[in-house]
Amino acid sequence: MPNIHISSSKYMAPSKLQGWQWLPYIDKIMLDVVKRAITIIDKRIKGSKPCEAAFKTLPDGKSFTDIWNLKNVWISYDPDRSGNKYGVALNKQHISITAYALAMGQWMTAATIIHELAHVNGAPGNNTQAEDMLLKCMLKQHHNPNIIGQIRNSKLKNVALV
Ligand SMILES: [Zn+2]
Repeated sequence: MPNIHISSSKYMAPSKLQGWQWLPYIDKIMLDVVKRAITIIDKRIKGSKPCEAAFKTLPDGKSFTDIWNLKNVWISYDPDRSGNKYGVALNKQHISITAYALAMGQWMTAATIIHELAHVNGAPGNNTQAEDMLLKCMLKQHHNPNIIGQIRNSKLKNVALV
């Protein structure tokens, strides 16, 4: 399962980029939400046949379990509460979840993590592929048809923020 970024983690998190932040979980309540979301995914969603199969249709072709088992994926904390950001994945490795999404609880957080893991599996930022994984991964009620990721090409080459 993905690693959770805490203060003692031996993890070189990205610096602030285009308004996104990859901070450690310091607040215990926020940490508990992300841990519960990961448990939900691990115990109830991982291994679901429609979810595993849907992930294989993404550009990188890995199953959900393949993505879940990657050792280099980290989940950080972004304090943004503006209400128009849920999460981000940088370079298929560095996920961050906003305080806004976390405040909506463990299910919305689980949905956001799955959306970002779809980007880890190559889902682009200019269509609904990532968000549509929720329809197949037992999170239909958290699917938002209006969420389309955006690939923002930063000044840095080959940095895909989705
Ligand atoms: Zn996205």
